[in-house]
Parts: sequence; C-alpha cells; structure tokens
Amino acid sequence: MSAEPRPGLRDTAPYHSPQLDVAVRLNTNECPLPLPEGFAEELAAAVRDLSLHRYPDGQMNELRERLAERMDHSFEGSWVANGSNEILTQLLQAYGGSGRAAGTFEPTYLLHSRLCWLTQTSVVSLRLPEGFVLTEGQVDDAVTAAPDVVFVCSPNNPTGNAQPVQITEALADALPQSLVIVDEAYHEFGGETALKLVADHPNVAVVRTFSKAFAMAGARIGYVLAAPEVVEDLQRVRLPYHLSALSQAAGIVGLRHHDEANASVEAIRSQRDRMASRLEAMSGMTVYPSDANFLLFVPPGDARTLWQGLLDRGVLVRDMTAVVPNALRVTAGTPEEVDLFLSATREVLAA
Ligand code: PMP
Repeated sequence: MSAEPRPGLRDTAPYHSPQLDVAVRLNTNECPLPLPEGFAEELAAAVRDLSLHRYPDGQMNELRERLAERMDHSFEGSWVANGSNEILTQLLQAYGGSGRAAGTFEPTYLLHSRLCWLTQTSVVSLRLPEGFVLTEGQVDDAVTAAPDVVFVCSPNNPTGNAQPVQITEALADALPQSLVIVDEAYHEFGGETALKLVADHPNVAVVRTFSKAFAMAGARIGYVLAAPEVVEDLQRVRLPYHLSALSQAAGIVGLRHHDEANASVEAIRSQRDRMASRLEAMSGMTVYPSDANFLLFVPPGDARTLWQGLLDRGVLVRDMTAVVPNALRVTAGTPEEVDLFLSATREVLAA
C-alpha cells in the first residue's frame, strides 16, 4: 500500500540547482566572497544571546525596523521570510491560488512558474520580445491575459537585463486590481529599482534578497517592500513564527554590515564586465548585456559540449539550454575564478 499524492505531483521533478564539488562554482549567482570576520564575530555573539527555548518574535519587529530604515521604506510595508522564494510563495498564497492566474514574461526565473504550481495558481506564459527588454507590447499582452498577479524580474534571471521602470508602472496602471511582483533579487548590481512606484501604486510589491549582494545566501533571508495592505495580507497566509530567531539575528547583523557587502558590488560588476568583453572577443560568441552579477551567453558550437568541457576543467556554470537555445549562464566570481573560467572556455573552444 502506498499513499496517493496530489494529482500531478509525481510528474514534477524535485527542484535541484545542480551542485557539484568543483573548484570554481559559477552556477548559482552567489557573492564570491564571504562577509568579513567582524560579521562572523557579531553573529556568534548575537546567537549566544538568544533565548531559543522561546518562540521568536512573530512580527520580526527589530529586523523589520532596521530593514525599513535601511531601505527608506515604511515598517508596515516591510516584511521578511526565509529567502525571497518564501516571500514569493506567500505573495502567491495571498494573491494567487486556485482559480486565479499569474503572468510571467519568459524566459525568466524558473521558480516563478514553479511556485505557481505549488500554490495552485495557473500560469499565463507571455513572451519577452527579442533582446528580452519589456515594451508597451507586453503591457498590451498582459492586459489581454488579465492575470491576478504579474511577475516582472529585474534584472531578469537568466537573461541579465533590467526592465524599464516605466513599463512596470504601465503594467501596474493597466492592471489596477492585479499584484505586480517585481523580483529585484539582483537590483544592487544594476538597473533602476521599482521601489519608488510603491507609494502611488499599492499593487506593486518589490521583492529582494540577502542571498546575492548581501553575501548571505546560506542564511536564507528575503524581503518585500510594499504597501501596508500587502503586508497585512501576508500576515494572513504566513506560518506562525515562520522566521526563526537565528535568521532574525542573522538579518539584523547582516544589515549592520550592509555597507561592507555593498563595497564588493563594484568589484563584482567589474569582473562581470571584464568577463563580457573577453567572451565577446571570442569568435562566434554572443553575450547578452547584463545588469546583474551573471552573464548569459551563446557559444559557437554546442553549449552542452562547452558546459561539460568546463566541468572537466573544474569550472561549473549553469546550463540554460532548456530556457534559451544553446545558452549558458555564468556568475561573476573573483578575478581568479573569472580567469580560470575564461582560460577553460578558450581551451574547450580551441579543442
Ligand atoms: N529571484 C531570482 C530572480 C533569483 O535568481 C533567485 C535565486 N536564484 C531568487 C529570487 C531566490 O533567492 P533566495 O530565495 O535565495 O532569496
């Protein structure tokens, strides 16, 4: 005897971001460097002071206050969860769900449609135009589809480009009863934020993370900046005490070290740009413009052969061929990692 799961569950593969034990991991868009020593010491002290026999502060008051101050946003409109993936899930639980639909502009972050499936929200897949930059044409497409939720990913994963804020605004104006979720996981690396829209557009929610520019992917902290009504709705779907005292402490300490994390953003951007210009110099290579900490590129010849050749040389990048024909995605790492990636790429292509 075995229990019958939810219909369709076993047709869906578990989500894995393939992790392999290699020297140069440029496949998950993390920050290549940890936060400095001072962070670890402060975090250890903060953890020592916790009363773990008690439930954490369910309202995450201190963390939300510090975050709101840092982001120059209201406390009531600031909310935190276990990674931006959980924020996105909570938003879909509140604004999507059975009988409702979410629009995505493809190609984009795979998790958006996957979280729709998880929350029983149907997906309306709209297409980004050539070059992947949203235009008025996609606003028209969204109006025709009239979904309850629209995702805008800016900078977009995996293409790297930021989306124009005026198009996000046009979407919010054209679909006043829909929630426009702006996924800004990579916003520190480039592009304009949609945060300024929130004041006049209570249907815009800006979602961000500590996993990238904050250099804290292991802590699993994400946040949303939105109108207070949106946060009130999230309170209705969140699990009790969803963010542990450990995560709250890590978030507070992380915010104190935000300037140090920000200081490495410039260095990461310059590695991204160096990588782009070196790749572009290789014959037959197409490199897409990026405002993020990664690049999407289409190599000459078979991308999967290059992916395997890189792996054989200890360099892991992301195979995006299922999403963009013959494309790979590479994260901007340290100068040494970028050198290894570039020399391995030259070697494989020359073979
Ligand atoms: N949004 C985008 C566009 C991402 O690329 C990622 C991570 N790859 C996330 C959200 C999720 O980040 P996290 O859950 O670590 O905050």
